[in-house]
Amino acid sequence: MSNDKGEILKNNAKKCSHCGSTSTLPIAHGLMSDEVHQENAKDRKWVWGGCVIHVGGDTDHCNDCGKSFGGDFTSEEKLQAESFDEESFLERRKKLLNVIDEYLDEEKDGEMYAAALHEAEGDEVEADHIYFGLYMQSIDKYLFEEYDEKLYDKALSEASGDEKEAEKIYLRLCKS
Ligand SMILES: [Zn+2]
Repeated sequence: MSNDKGEILKNNAKKCSHCGSTSTLPIAHGLMSDEVHQENAKDRKWVWGGCVIHVGGDTDHCNDCGKSFGGDFTSEEKLQAESFDEESFLERRKKLLNVIDEYLDEEKDGEMYAAALHEAEGDEVEADHIYFGLYMQSIDKYLFEEYDEKLYDKALSEASGDEKEAEKIYLRLCKS
């Protein structure tokens, strides 16, 4: 809250979006001292909305119908988009773990390793790093693209329905 709180709040009365009344109070958030609360109790200048500000939460309270309003719908939409991102993050993490599993399991691709070794000028540790980079590039499609349903179905039938195995087969199919 700013120093000239009273000034800001005075000019802040909004029209209720539910009943149209202009007898409204802004909703204040944050930690406030008892003193501030008592002062406000005398001539209610605002309504306390709690310590936590919700993204897209309502900003004003109507004295007539008792409802809150002024929430920012677009922020709410944004929140939904963010939780969707979290889902795809988990999906990507699952894929990445699968890739590392497969990477450790699999024999090195001779041609690709030879190229890496050549680039590392014979330094095997360096060649491993380069090889890993090349490997990750080769599975870009698997990591960053949506599942190709046809290809996944093929993998699933090859794995006789075993989803974990199908995931690995699908990864291999994506590489080629
Ligand atoms: Zn109202």
